[in-house]
Amino acid sequence: MSPLAKILEEIILRDGPISVEEWMSICLSHPEHGYYTTGQPFGKQGDFTTAPEISQMFGELLGLWAAVVWQQMGAPDKVQLIELGPGRGTLMSDALRAGKGVPGFINAISVDMVETSPILMALQKQTLTDAGVKSQWHQTIEDVPSGPSIIIGNEFLDALPIRQWVKDGDHWKERCVNVIDDRFEFTLGDQVDLSDIPEVFRQTSDGDILETSSITTDIIQKISARLCQFGGVAVFIDYGHSATGLGETLQAVKNHGYAEPLLDPGQQDLTAHVDFAAVARAAKEIGARPWGPITQGDLLERLGISARATSLLASATKEQAIELASARQRLTAPDGMGRLFKAIAISHPDAPAPPAFEEVSWAD
Ligand code: SAH
Repeated sequence: MSPLAKILEEIILRDGPISVEEWMSICLSHPEHGYYTTGQPFGKQGDFTTAPEISQMFGELLGLWAAVVWQQMGAPDKVQLIELGPGRGTLMSDALRAGKGVPGFINAISVDMVETSPILMALQKQTLTDAGVKSQWHQTIEDVPSGPSIIIGNEFLDALPIRQWVKDGDHWKERCVNVIDDRFEFTLGDQVDLSDIPEVFRQTSDGDILETSSITTDIIQKISARLCQFGGVAVFIDYGHSATGLGETLQAVKNHGYAEPLLDPGQQDLTAHVDFAAVARAAKEIGARPWGPITQGDLLERLGISARATSLLASATKEQAIELASARQRLTAPDGMGRLFKAIAISHPDAPAPPAFEEVSWAD
């Protein structure tokens, strides 16, 4: 057994089965052995590849998106550009380079990176060394100094732990993880108070699974409160579904393939689909305004990926041109990341539609 598997076994033998939320939290963020704490999961050598690592166009277009949001805010002298879960720092680096083309923007921003992993934080600092913008790092969104802000999170929400609820006869029970003969197995916890289950899902069939994430709700509400108080806009891009639904989406990924979520704790990525409807509900409860979700394909097309690809092609070698075409296809095509990945924006209630979200205000 790995050191983290031993730690998890000890916890379960001492306290009883742990929730899926606790399993995900420990596997991803244990201070010594967590997946993000120890690893560098991105790219060909790692376990998965994210949009900013596929092409510089992704971060550049989000940088221009942020610059237009800043103009919509009245081009204030000072605004914070905040990124949650910045990975290798690639998105921010590309965004800042593109933002330099918009007069006044770079001088107005300071960068706040929210990252829990010390290894990734060090990598991000290295990536932004020459960016020429004042940057600070924080453990949580609450640690970021207050003020008007433009907030970006790509594949951040899918890394936040979820809880799973299973219908068992007439009751809902929490799905937990137990250990038997050194093997981790799913089990059901005690029956839960129905107030934990949204009304529409109370009458369903035996074995149905519902996922919720109070950690996501909490972070979205903190961001929403911040936007309501100081102004600004947030955008989150991730894979997930537009409406809350039944079904299990917890998944493990290792070496670019699917793996078993209860195997090799801390040595593989664990994620769950984002429930965009739940994100919108959380924002609305605080008085902020959700926009979308729109597909990643629509987001990038509306932000001008065609024009950016054409301008990059002008100075590309033949190999670079092939790579560029394939990256664009992968990011935008419905059978690539174009449809499964979606973007949701959250703004101050009086803010105009953020770029790419025109006419897509959240429908009740
Ligand atoms: N945005 C990057 C990385 C996505 S992976 C990209 O698109 O390439 C998820 C990122 O979120 C990692 O940087 C991970 O360390 C970070 N992370 C996970 N949980 C976090 C939390 N609770 N708070 C802040 N960062 C977190």
